[in-house]
Amino acid sequence: MATTDGKVYDVTILGAGPTGLFGAFYAGMREMKTKIIEALPEMGGQLTVLYPEKFIYDVPGYPKILSKDLVKRLVEQGTQWGAAICLDERITSLEYVDHGDPDQGHPPVIRLTAESGTVHLTHTVVICAGIGAFAPNKLDRPGVHEYEGRGVAYFVREKAPYRSKNVLIVGGGDSAVDWALNLKDWARQVTLIHRREGFRAHESSVAELMNSQVEVKVWWELEAVLGDGEHVTGARIFNNKTDEKLTLHVDHVIFSLGFKAALGPIADWGLKLAGRHILVDGLMRTNLPGVYAAGDIVEPVGSVSLNLIVTGFAQAAIAVNVAKSFLDPKSKIFPGHSSEMRI
Ligand code: FAD
Repeated sequence: MATTDGKVYDVTILGAGPTGLFGAFYAGMREMKTKIIEALPEMGGQLTVLYPEKFIYDVPGYPKILSKDLVKRLVEQGTQWGAAICLDERITSLEYVDHGDPDQGHPPVIRLTAESGTVHLTHTVVICAGIGAFAPNKLDRPGVHEYEGRGVAYFVREKAPYRSKNVLIVGGGDSAVDWALNLKDWARQVTLIHRREGFRAHESSVAELMNSQVEVKVWWELEAVLGDGEHVTGARIFNNKTDEKLTLHVDHVIFSLGFKAALGPIADWGLKLAGRHILVDGLMRTNLPGVYAAGDIVEPVGSVSLNLIVTGFAQAAIAVNVAKSFLDPKSKIFPGHSSEMRI
């Protein structure tokens, strides 16, 4: 079996969303030998994949910050101590190589194995896997699969490809409405189709949409994506009440139909779960010694899962500092004040 470097890390952070990145900051500050493992080729979690160009208003200290800019700052802050970073590496199993005797100062050795077969060794793990492995809901219609990545998209990672293009957005939720609004002054023409009349989106956004130049067509559905073999050139749509059909000349079709989240292999690691969440106590401990969890993935017993960036930050701070004191029982959980450190 390949190991990335054969070293046993003090802590391995599983998932480089905001929770994992902030956890990495604390791990470095506590002088723990740290590794971050992320399934996606980029860091940032949901912020990078699902809403990089949206503003976030509820991160303390930032009245308003673009999602991708917050990720940039979190990466800078979280990796400043030189954590090892493994991207594009989806962990599929967690096993104990040695259970150790933590009370006697011998922490366990845990083996994390990736889909690729690569093995990572660590004394503690903080699982920050968010909503787990997630995949967009897809429509099984002619041309959809064929033109994925060639005009058919499920996430808008950057606005540049849509500049002065004709864009069709399919969906009626927050993301569909937000992307229509975001692209309306950037694309040549944005059309949004939704199979029902009611939108599952913020009222003020829907009102803005209805008063914008976006062409909104309710009761319309996609029948097929059309292309020239290279790229999308159009879409055939139909009215599900009247059966009327229309061909639209569009360069891009963005499906915004929500996504399925699944814990995936994490469900088989022997962790106590509540649905797709890992149960943790107030110290962010799971039922497995040396294994902690934080962020969207957890359900804290006796508390609530808010599924917000800010709650993940606080939970990551607790998880990492508790892991530090588990690893070295002489270390306090309280990390001290960063303002009193010399960096
Ligand atoms: P995630 O961001 O989900 O990151 C988890 C990471 O773990 C992912 O990158 C994933 O690839 C990785 N991972 C999963 N499984 C594995 C594995 N087996 N191996 C390796 N890596 C793995 N929150 C706010 O506070 N304010 C907002 O304004 C806000 N707006 C939002 C808008 C939208 C459209 C959405 C969808 C969410 C919004 N949220 C907002 C919620 C916020 O994004 C989440 O609470 C936050 O991303 C959770 O962070 P996380 O690090 O716990 O998980």
